[in-house]
Amino acid sequence: MSRERIESIARALVVGGGIGGMAAAISLAARGVSVDLIDLDPDWRVYGAGITITGPTLRAYRHLGLLDRIAAQGAITNGARIFRYDGVHLQDLDEPAIEEGLPATGGIMRPVLHRLMQERVRALAIPVRLGVTVDALDQDKGGVDVTFSDGGRGRYDLVVGADSIYSRVRDLAFTHMGPAEPTGQGCWRVSIARPPGLDRGEFYFGHRWPAGITACAPDMVYLWMLTPHERRDRHFTDDQLFARMKTNLADFGGNAGWIRDRMTRDDWINYRPLAARLQPRPWHDGGVVLIGDAVHATTPHLASGAGMAVESAIVLAHELARADDVGAALAAYEERRYDRCRDVVETSIAVGRLQLEGGDPAEVGAMIGNALHRLAAPF
Ligand SMILES: Cc1cc2nc3c(=O)[nH]c(=O)nc-3n(C[C@H](O)[C@H](O)[C@H](O)COP(=O)(O)OP(=O)(O)OC[C@H]3O[C@@H](n4cnc5c(N)ncnc54)[C@H](O)[C@@H]3O)c2cc1C
Repeated sequence: MSRERIESIARALVVGGGIGGMAAAISLAARGVSVDLIDLDPDWRVYGAGITITGPTLRAYRHLGLLDRIAAQGAITNGARIFRYDGVHLQDLDEPAIEEGLPATGGIMRPVLHRLMQERVRALAIPVRLGVTVDALDQDKGGVDVTFSDGGRGRYDLVVGADSIYSRVRDLAFTHMGPAEPTGQGCWRVSIARPPGLDRGEFYFGHRWPAGITACAPDMVYLWMLTPHERRDRHFTDDQLFARMKTNLADFGGNAGWIRDRMTRDDWINYRPLAARLQPRPWHDGGVVLIGDAVHATTPHLASGAGMAVESAIVLAHELARADDVGAALAAYEERRYDRCRDVVETSIAVGRLQLEGGDPAEVGAMIGNALHRLAAPF
């Protein structure tokens, strides 16, 4: 990680200890800022899914100094296999590394990624308070007075809102923004033992519901599937999730069929309706700024939401190190991030729409491939 010190601020509060918030805390603390990190979850957990890590996401984690650990504890794959939904092999896709010295692509279990980031937060001696959020933000020229939900107070030069799709910081400080909007699709995921011989990511096309498999550890994968979201499908019991996932996969062959036949009630199964929104500018006000899903919430279609959150954190710290004052740094951060994040959010929404309309899988594949190619450009 580049280590120019940040002189424009001394104290920062990061609200939200997820992927973007931890990346921001690490990036700021590594450049000499005194950072406090808070998270609403008293146990600071993350749910048991796997996550796909694209080349640009791996590059962002290399900036944080976490690439080797992710590669060692996740799974690195070079390329993807395309199948017809019934398991007929159609094509192998090579996915070259986007930069020398980087693996091509991969995956990791979310709890493992979370732990690796938490270890770095702790190694930097960043104070973390859990079960807490912000209740009020009052700004003057010199800084931001924060009132916490436990009654505590603090004064900071910078408050970073990394509290995700239902951001409280956004609600408190950015009245021109609004909640993320449902896209009409839902994502099913199951985390399960790795099918024998699976050595690349897999995609299954030609069914009305696209699906895929990502390796996340030497012995683990997750399977994802996208279906139209129906309003009644918001809450499922564990038994219903298991039964629906099996039924959803009824027509599938290959490793998707293998997973269907071996799934048990003990495997982690989840359904989540998708929502997305690129928030209107500005993304900063005085000493308050947003990063990650709070401001560029996207769907999984490009598997790039986590990468965008980490990139935004890195760019924020970089611009704070370059600028003499916070306002100029935050304006430069927003300028560098807006078009790139807009591309991800808008392309992801467009791909989902095309899938809902039953669009040609080749067109879907081209949209995704072209977008990932654009994201290979330096951030
Ligand atoms: C179904 C699905 C699959 C996905 N798959 C992928 C994938 O394969 N690859 C990929 O790159 N991206 C994927 N994403 C997107 C990715 O998960 C997000 O873009 C990423 O986690 C955003 O990081 P974040 O830090 O903004 O939010 P999060 O990682 O969600 O972290 C937010 C944190 O803020 C905390 N918090 C929430 N509210 C408050 C509050 N009021 N006060 C304090 N703390 C609060 C939460 O407890 C949490 O710890 C997927 C998303 C979905 C929905």
